[in-house]
Amino acid sequence: MSTTQQRVAIVTGAARGIGAATALRLAAQGRAVGVLDLDPDACRETVEKITADGGTALAVGCDVSDTDQVRDAVRQVAAELGPPLVLVNNAGVLRDNLLFKMDETDWDTVIGVHLRGAFLMSRACQSYMVEAGFGRIVSLSSSSALGNRGQANYAAAKAGLQGFTKTLAKELGKFGITANAVAPGFIVTDMTAATAARVGVGFDDFQEAAAAKTAVGRVGAPEDVARAIAFFTADEAGFVSGQVLYVAGGPLN
Ligand code: NAP
Repeated sequence: MSTTQQRVAIVTGAARGIGAATALRLAAQGRAVGVLDLDPDACRETVEKITADGGTALAVGCDVSDTDQVRDAVRQVAAELGPPLVLVNNAGVLRDNLLFKMDETDWDTVIGVHLRGAFLMSRACQSYMVEAGFGRIVSLSSSSALGNRGQANYAAAKAGLQGFTKTLAKELGKFGITANAVAPGFIVTDMTAATAARVGVGFDDFQEAAAAKTAVGRVGAPEDVARAIAFFTADEAGFVSGQVLYVAGGPLN
């Protein structure tokens, strides 16, 4: 018999893309899921899919870079579903530009959503995890953490999340809490579609070019990433912490 219990998970940025796939996957494994995104109405589709499959989910509107909204959202999930013991820091934005054209707003927005957002969400959830003696935190890094032209802000945030993850692993391990990062390569979502549009390339051609540079000869789907996240969040994964798993269809070098 699986030892996975019905624990409550929060997935940020879960209205679509990797976050939505992750929310569905965790729900299918028996988690009740707090589906967080900027617009609660946008979370409805994810919540409806989960409940149609017999799962439990709650749509919550929250800007993860806002301290008060994060506090209120986490409290709402705890009150309506139960203490959040699994957290997936997935919410993300892009504001790509070459350094000489990147303004302070581009920088602050990206650092704010990814790094400050992961910090605020993890801090708000850790008290429930410490009390339970169990917790799983997974943050979305990226292959861009290794450096990517036009993404100084995003690469800094995604590399920062790796250091953040390793530090949480060291601080929180004695409370039964693990922290890991998943670093996707090219995944087909609205985010990569927007990048294709920004550089003026059709999305099909953009995907074909990315697939040609990938060892397995294809681009990734949100479910490829959700499966890796699900591994780290499993009750049985308690001896795996502080790791960064690249989900990129091959080695990156
Ligand atoms: P996506 O389709 O653009 O979805 C991101 C979600 O996050 C959107 O629903 C977005 O809401 C939400 N969001 C943005 N800012 C937020 C905020 N301040 N508070 C709460 N939610 C917010 O992106 P994705 O491709 O699934 O990416 C998910 C994560 O994986 C991101 O962290 C991304 O950096 C990372 N990643 C993606 C790829 C890839 O190839 N797709 C590769 C490596 C890493 P709105 O739509 O309202 O803005």
